[in-house]
Amino acid sequence: MRAPAKVNLHLSVGQRRPDGFHDLTTVFHAIGLYDDVVLTRADASTVSVEGDQAGLVPTDGSNLALRAVHLMAQHTGNDPAVAVHIRKGIPVAGGCAGGSADAAAALVGCDALWGTGLGKDELAGLGAQLGSDVPFGLHGGTALGTGRGEQLTPVLGQGSYSWVLALSDGGLSTPDVYAQLDRQRESGPVGVVSSPAGVLSALRQGDAVALGRALGNDLQPAAIALKPPLRLLLEAARDLGALGAVVSGSGPTVALLTRDEDHGIALASALSGQGVCSGVRVASGPAAGARVVEAH
Ligand code: C5P
Repeated sequence: MRAPAKVNLHLSVGQRRPDGFHDLTTVFHAIGLYDDVVLTRADASTVSVEGDQAGLVPTDGSNLALRAVHLMAQHTGNDPAVAVHIRKGIPVAGGCAGGSADAAAALVGCDALWGTGLGKDELAGLGAQLGSDVPFGLHGGTALGTGRGEQLTPVLGQGSYSWVLALSDGGLSTPDVYAQLDRQRESGPVGVVSSPAGVLSALRQGDAVALGRALGNDLQPAAIALKPPLRLLLEAARDLGALGAVVSGSGPTVALLTRDEDHGIALASALSGQGVCSGVRVASGPAAGARVVEAH
C-alpha cells in the first residue's frame, strides 16, 4: 500500500474539550510524499521499519499500523498474525501525519488481504478510533476537517500545487504543542487565524498566489515557542520568495508553496544552503489517499 503525507493549509483550533481534544476547522491537503506499507501473512503480528528516520518509529504495540491491524482483525473476526513492513518516506513526528498514513495503509491492506470488503465509511470510522488524522489518510486529496479533524468534507479545487517541505531535527509531540497553545491562551490573547474562506476560495480558483497568502495555522505560535529556530526558517522561506510558508499541523515541518516544480527545486536548494533546516523534500498536491498499489 502507498499512503500520502498531509499538510494543513488552514488550521483553526477551538477550545479544549472535556475529552482532551480540541475542536478544529482545518483544510487537509495530501501531498506526493509517501510511506509504503507491505503486509504479509505470518505466524505472529510484527512490525519492521526502514528509512532514514526508521529508528524513531516505535515497533511495539504502540505502532499505529500494528494497532490498525489489530483493530481490523477484531472488527472483522480475522487472525491478526500479519507482518507489517513500513518504508518511511514521510518525516517522523513532523506534523505530516506519517503515523496516520501508515494506519490508513494498514486498514486498506487488511481489507484487501482478508477480502473483508469494508466500505469507505466503515474504514474511516475505524480510522477515527486510531487517530484524528487517519480518516484523511484514507481520503486523500483536499478536504475540510471538523470535529477533532476526523469529520471530512471533500473540497472542490482545481490545479495542482508545488510544495517544498523543510524538515527540522527532533520532532514535536502533538499533545505538547496543543498543551503549549492552551498555556499561551491562558496567559493572554493570542492571534487566531480566522475562517478557511480564503484558502477555500483560492483552491476553487486554482490561484497559487492567493493560496500562499491565505495559509494559516493556530498551532504555529505554539510550535515556534517549543522550537524557536522555526521562526528563522519561516523568515528564510519568505525572503527566498515562497508564495507562502506555514508550519504543518503541530510541526516542526514547514510547508512552502512555490510557483511550480522548477521554482520548488530552486527554493529547496537555496533553503538547504542556509542551514535553517535539516532536510528538504519537493512534492506536489493534491495526492491520492491510501491505496493498494501491488497485490500478490
Ligand atoms: O488523534 P491523535 O492521536 O492524532 O491526537 C494526538 C493528541 O493531539 C491528542 O491526544 C490531543 O492531545 C491532541 N489533539 C487535540 N485536538 C485534536 C487533535 C489532537 O488536542 N483535534
